[in-house]
Amino acid sequence: MNLILLGPPGAGKGTQAEILTKQLNIKTVSTGVMLRAAMREGTELGKLAKQYIDDGKLVPDSVVVGIVKERLSQDDLKNGFILDGFPRTIAQAEALDATGIKIDYVLSLECDEKVILERLTGRRECKVCGTPYHIKTKPVPTNGKCVCGGEIVQRPDDNEETIKNRLKVYHEQTEPIKAYYESQGKVISVDSSKTAQITNDAVFEALGLDKQEA
Ligand code: ADP
Ligand code: ZN
Repeated sequence: MNLILLGPPGAGKGTQAEILTKQLNIKTVSTGVMLRAAMREGTELGKLAKQYIDDGKLVPDSVVVGIVKERLSQDDLKNGFILDGFPRTIAQAEALDATGIKIDYVLSLECDEKVILERLTGRRECKVCGTPYHIKTKPVPTNGKCVCGGEIVQRPDDNEETIKNRLKVYHEQTEPIKAYYESQGKVISVDSSKTAQITNDAVFEALGLDKQEA
């Protein structure tokens, strides 16, 4: 199964991806995680991405499309994948379609802005694997480290100013993707304003999957 997770920053894409990856036994490809890894390593890609990410802007389509195409061509995704954070513009969605890779469903996580702001300001993230944490709903383990051993930090782009920019960018550039996939009959909308577990149950039901089987 090839899935796309769509929704505003803070809607819970990373959290659902983390759960679904285990349940469906398919890998997640997260452009945010890939770009932050490149920034940490200080590669050319990382240096370029940083100029956009720090301001809450989108990294140029050509750059993101390039890294995603390369990743999707790898063998470990033959049985399926979950895309988190891509596509984020109509041009990216078109570039993905042009590869001929079939997308089965686009899970649209619906969540209002008040909840989003609360989530993003309390969010923490593993620097190494990208696993999300939250000061209230998913506290950092007592040793201060991620399950993978990585350091857990607050993302620099999770400050109020940048969050506002990211939400604006989302409405202007990413939200139109929903209609794009609706015209392909692929969109499944799920309320993601409650807990991660409730959202996950709703996702399973919407996909017609049985929790017992997973
Ligand atoms: P969130 O969904 O919380 O905004 P992500 O980790 O998905 O977080 O993305 C963080 C930042 O990385 C974005 O604000 C953007 O600058 C950049 N980015 C991630 N994915 C893409 C993409 N598909 N196209 C352009 N920029 C991207
Ligand atoms: Zn980790």
